[in-house]
Amino acid sequence: MERTLQIGGQKPEKPSGMGIYLDYNATAPLCESAKQAIQEGMRWVGNASSVHQFGRCVRQKIEDVRTELADFFSVKAANVIFTSGATEANHLALCGFEGRVVVSAIEHDSVDQARSDKDVCPVDHNGMIDLDALEKWLKAQNGPCLVSMMAANNETGVIQPLNHVVDLAKRYGALVHCDAVQAVGRIALTWEGIDLISLSAHKLGGPQGVGALVMRNDISLQAQLRGGGQERSMRSGTENFLGIMGFGAALKTSQVSSWEKAGFLRDELESRLEAACTHVKFLARKVPRLPNTTVIVMEGVTSATQVMNFDLKGIAISAGAACSSGKVKSSRVLTAMGIPQAMADCSIRVSFGPQESCDNTVDTFINSWLEVYDRTRKASKDPNE
Ligand code: PMP
Repeated sequence: MERTLQIGGQKPEKPSGMGIYLDYNATAPLCESAKQAIQEGMRWVGNASSVHQFGRCVRQKIEDVRTELADFFSVKAANVIFTSGATEANHLALCGFEGRVVVSAIEHDSVDQARSDKDVCPVDHNGMIDLDALEKWLKAQNGPCLVSMMAANNETGVIQPLNHVVDLAKRYGALVHCDAVQAVGRIALTWEGIDLISLSAHKLGGPQGVGALVMRNDISLQAQLRGGGQERSMRSGTENFLGIMGFGAALKTSQVSSWEKAGFLRDELESRLEAACTHVKFLARKVPRLPNTTVIVMEGVTSATQVMNFDLKGIAISAGAACSSGKVKSSRVLTAMGIPQAMADCSIRVSFGPQESCDNTVDTFINSWLEVYDRTRKASKDPNE
């Protein structure tokens, strides 16, 4: 009798069979090239630190990927440090730096919470960094200092004026760290003047649990994980060989142009939803954004209710920053932008992917949005009204 693996009493199912996935900023599906590279890696055995030929083969493959990443960012291979993801890369950059640190008010939690002694630079109502406030901070420093500014925000997609940040920082002799997780492979960027770049494989079609800190110059950072001396003693711990294989392949095959389709779908969704319902609102629509991201406000209906209702309809979207604990919490990013709490708490993030080619995705989303809106609004109306 044929047996299939059962998980929690259910047959494992491919996510594609589960509905419409519009949560690429949370994680992207593993791309074909990454799957193939991981499969190729599964043929090998050995610890990259072992001196025997098994270990040396694995070492060679890791070094090949390191060189590819280094070429992508125009740095020396030795300046690419593999980590368990962007959270760890952000910690290495910020906690490893000895000096004062300023982070923008809309950074990911892994930057925001890395150092309790950080200063915070405000953003405007569109979520763009306040360059005057940054200059004021830079002027006030009298020792080594680091500015941490993300390339594009994970919740709103807003793209930051990195070149202006770099110009200012360099004028005052500060280093610049950039959490480039949401931007790499999705938009064209120049790395001129940026000293440290954090990356995460799973946002660009690689596997979860692997990333890197790219050092564009020889910067002295204190290791945060000490022990085995891997990664030039900058990050001890056996390298995630299969993860690194998948990461390299995903980065190599990522194409900024393939995200244009996501941009068309996003724009179509916004204009058609607006035409269908005058009450809908979009956040940060007037500033440069990632092509795949939109934040939609359904006033009077909390983000949690929306996420649940869309989920029941088979549509995966997200609310707030991240739901790492399975709970939806108020968005620190939207609050920093001065968005009224009532609006922030009723907003959802929709993030398309380049493969989201299904023509009726936008229709299905809009019909579902209108249905959720009508039903939840009706349900919340006073019956005696
Ligand atoms: N920075 C940003 C902007 C992110 O979106 C994320 C993932 N949500 C991270 C950092 C953390 O990345 P990782 O999951 O690789 O730790």
